[in-house]
This record gives sequence, C-alpha cells and structure tokens, in this order.
Amino acid sequence: MTKTRHLTILGSTGSIGESTLDVVARHPHRYQVVALTADRNVEKMLGQCTRFHPSYAVMLDAPSAGRLEDRLRAAGLDIKVLSGIESLEKVASLPEIDTVMAAIVGAAGIRPTLAAARTGKHILLANKETLVMAGRVFMDTLKQHHATLLPIDSEHNAIFQSLPSRFNGDLAGSGVRRILLTASGGPFRKVDLEMLETVTPEQACAHPNWVMGRKISVDSATMMNKGLEVIEAHWLFNAEPEKIQVVIHPQSVIHSMVEYIDGSVLAQLGNPDMRTPIAHALSYPERTESGVQSLDMFKVARLDFEFPDFKRFPCLRLAYEALAAGGNMPAVLNAANEVAVEVFLAGRIPFTAVPVMIEDVMKSTERQNVPDLESVLLADLQARATAREWLTCNTGRIQEGQYPHSVPDSKTDNPHTF
Ligand code: NAD
Ligand code: MG
Repeated sequence: MTKTRHLTILGSTGSIGESTLDVVARHPHRYQVVALTADRNVEKMLGQCTRFHPSYAVMLDAPSAGRLEDRLRAAGLDIKVLSGIESLEKVASLPEIDTVMAAIVGAAGIRPTLAAARTGKHILLANKETLVMAGRVFMDTLKQHHATLLPIDSEHNAIFQSLPSRFNGDLAGSGVRRILLTASGGPFRKVDLEMLETVTPEQACAHPNWVMGRKISVDSATMMNKGLEVIEAHWLFNAEPEKIQVVIHPQSVIHSMVEYIDGSVLAQLGNPDMRTPIAHALSYPERTESGVQSLDMFKVARLDFEFPDFKRFPCLRLAYEALAAGGNMPAVLNAANEVAVEVFLAGRIPFTAVPVMIEDVMKSTERQNVPDLESVLLADLQARATAREWLTCNTGRIQEGQYPHSVPDSKTDNPHTF
C-alpha cells in the first residue's frame, strides 16, 4: 500500500498551485491536502476549500482572511483561517504534514520554504527565488534538518531525471561533463531589437509554449528566468557556472539535458505541461498519471537549438555575473528584478529598462557575505529600496524618452560556452 502524503500547498491559487491540485485530485488515496495558502484571491481559495477540505487556509492579510472566514462559515465548512507570514511558516512546518509544495512566487516564498526545511519536510520546490536568494543557507538548512528536496522547475526536474539515480552532488564523480539547460527564448526571440522598447506587458506575458503566472512570464521574455535557473541549477546540482550551458530550444519539448564524459547526452522530453514534473516529484520514486497527453513526435516533427544572445537578453548575463560574484549579489539581482518586473507590468518603465535598472542596482551595491536568513532578507530589502530610488530618479527621463536604453558597456559574447 502506498503511504498517503499529507500536503501543504504554498501558493495554491497560482499556476503551479492549481496544477498541483489537478494532479492531487487524480489520486485521492495518495494525497491529503492539509493546508492551502494564497495572497488575496478569496473566491479561488473558497473554491479550493470547498473541493479539498483542508484543515487550514492562509491568506496574505487579515481583511482577506476575514472575508474567507465569512464565506466558509456561510458554506458550513469548518476550516481554520489564518493570515500573515508567521501563519505561512506555521502551515509549512505542521507536525501532521510531511510534504510542502513551495509555489509562492518571488521573495515572499523564502520564509515558509525555510520553515519547511527547518522541520525536515519533503520539499517540492517551484519557488526558485528561495535558492537564488539564499542558496547556501537553504542547502545547509536542508542538510542539517534531514529535509529533502525535489525540483519542480521543469528544467531542473528534467536534469534530476537525467542524472544517475543515486546522484550525491558530485558531477565529475558521476561522469557528467556539463548540464544543458534549455530555454524557449520567450516571445521576443526574433523581434527586432529596436522594437523591444515598445513591447507591452500583454505581449511580454504571451509565452509561446507555457501558461504561467505574470512574473515568471516576464522573466521568460527577458530571459531572467533562465538566469535565475542557472543559479538554481548551481545550488541543486553543485554545478559550477561553466558547467551550465544555456541552449535555446524554441519548441520546449526537451526540458533539459545532461552530457556525460563518454559523449552520451540524456534528456527528458514531454509536452510543456507542469503537471509532469509535479506528478513526478509528488510520487517519486514511483510514477503516476498526471493528466498530460502523450507527446506527439510526428506533430513536433523537428527540434531546433540556438545559442543565447547576451545582447538581446542582458538579464542572462547579469545572472551569470551575480552568480560569479556570490554573497548578497544573487539576492540583489532577484530583488531588483522583482521591482523592475512589477513596475514594467504597471506600465511605468519600458521593457528595455528592466536590465538597466537591475544592473544599476547591482553596481551601486557593495558585495557582502550573507551567512544567514536575516542577512539575505536585509540584502533583499536594501536592493528593493535602491531599485525604488532608481525609479524616482529616472521616472522624469523615462517619461521624456531619455533614459539610457541599453545597458552600458554590455558585453555581447557569452563566456559560458565550450
Ligand atoms: P502565480 O503568480 O501564478 O502564483 C503565485 C502564488 O503565490 C499564488 O497562489 C499567490 O496567491 C501566491 N502569492 C503571491 N504573492 C504572495 C505573497 N506576497 N504572500 C503569499 N502568497 C503570495 O505564480 P506561478 O507561475 O504559479 O509561479 C510560482 C513559483 O513557481 C514561482 O517561483 C515561479 O518561478 C515558479 N515556477 C513556475 C512555473 C510555471 O509554469 N508557472 C514553472 C517553473 C517554476
Ligand atoms: Mg523553468
């Protein structure tokens, strides 16, 4: 008999959260939902509570929690409603759960994900920002508390599936030559560079292959998402940056590859549907139905590969630079990116200002070590303040169309090639 997993799903109303519940609903005997969390979407949370009957529902703030509580009471549902960051930490570390799906978007996910690590949970990690911001602290915490981690990000899940089953963090010892991290190239892979300045948030969010939340969709358009994933791969697989080659693969059918020293390249393929990595991680090491259709090779017909262009995608270069610098720099990169994406989505800066803002924030921040969660959170806060200052200083120029359009002294060659 398969043991029932008791789950907390952080960010259950998001794209990953909903896909997780879709998989969970297919296997009611395997999974029991104990806690769900969301920011302010009371309607969606109410629907999920009605369907999955968790013991806890956590909302971001007290007013949303109050509205949810009223609705649940009216529906005759007895579910504890909580709010705030401490409550997120609480439901990520409940003694009655064994597994946490970490699917909050952005830096907001770090504290509950670390709480799950401190209580030795089995963590399914979609929130890549936790690893980007606090890779060392998070990996050490996992080890110290015997927590386990499986990647949900499709590329990292593919890499995990392509590595030897008993991979112990030693790539060279496992005969791995390099990791080939695939990227779709997003919606602007072929758009004229001059046109990038005028692209709209809607165009940036219209990903050619994946349906995702708005933040990660913009990250895919700038390729910051791939940059964050390079840092994520570094921590997950103990891979030096020069062992991680980004490969643009517009069809998004190969989700990533591992090359071995004998010349073998192992890959994981499938339709671009996050239910595959979610089902894999939920039931690992077994396999279960995910609802994903068979990959139709005849329809796919061809697989293309391209070299990533740092001139078109300066965010990718910035991420490699942040990883090389280490310390607070990946957290600074992440925080500046979150602010830049937010103000781009709000129509306050053009798309091409996103990397300019991030690079300016990185340049004006001193490199420091971040030995614990507090120092990571401080680096995050300071970088956000610097990014907001940048916005205040540059808003007038942006409105007049006079701000620096391209990242100055932008290197166009990609040093991370073989
Ligand atoms: P989304 O925006 O669709 O959902 C985010 C979830 O987090 C929602 O439930 C929202 O209510 C919650 N949330 C947002 N801000 C919050 C806050 N301040 N406090 C508490 N909860 C908050 O995002 P998504 O696309 O599902 O992505 C979630 C994570 O998974 C991200 O880290 C993303 O990088 C990663 N990821 C997503 C995909 C994908 O296909 N969507 C693929 C790989 C990795
Ligand atoms: Mg990904």
